[in-house]
Amino acid sequence: MTDPELVRLAEHIRDVPDFPKPGILFKDISPLLQDPESLRIACRRMAAPFARERIDRVVGIESRGFIFGVPVALALGTGFALARKLGKLPWDTRRESYQLEYGSAEIEMHSDAVLPGQRVLLVDDVIATGGTAAATARLIRALGGEVVGTSFLVELGFLNGRKALEGLSVEAVLHF
Ligand code: AMP
Repeated sequence: MTDPELVRLAEHIRDVPDFPKPGILFKDISPLLQDPESLRIACRRMAAPFARERIDRVVGIESRGFIFGVPVALALGTGFALARKLGKLPWDTRRESYQLEYGSAEIEMHSDAVLPGQRVLLVDDVIATGGTAAATARLIRALGGEVVGTSFLVELGFLNGRKALEGLSVEAVLHF
């Protein structure tokens, strides 16, 4: 890696072995969030690939997708909507389930978070297996939105998350 901005970002991501369970190498973005220059670079570079697209809504995935989703939305001159774990949203919702390693989970959005025909950018901090992002993309489409693309800070390439998002534009700032 020779790009000094990417070197700085990589230096501000902390690898935590065996969290939340044995065998997982957790990418902890806390140091990056605490370094204003890294935070600025990360948000700018997550928005950049979509600067020429007309984006009507950014959807961030709970919870670290919220952190990056809002500045990306501001950079693109648009608004932000939440995709949350089940049972957290107060109003009328739609939900979508997806498979985890053991069992399944559900992701939920307000039924008016995306309007029919809106062009949506999906944002999260890390793409691992891609299961969460794929379910959120299905949910956005169920609401009538068009998923224009997805933007992540980190892609864990060895987990093949791109495959789960086949047909979508997948952008990531850092690749491990
Ligand atoms: P995925 O397997 O792509 O559905 O990942 C689900 C969620 O878990 C994403 O929102 C990521 O933020 C988070 N995640 C998965 N694996 C990691 C990891 N190794 N380090 C940090 N976050 C992770």
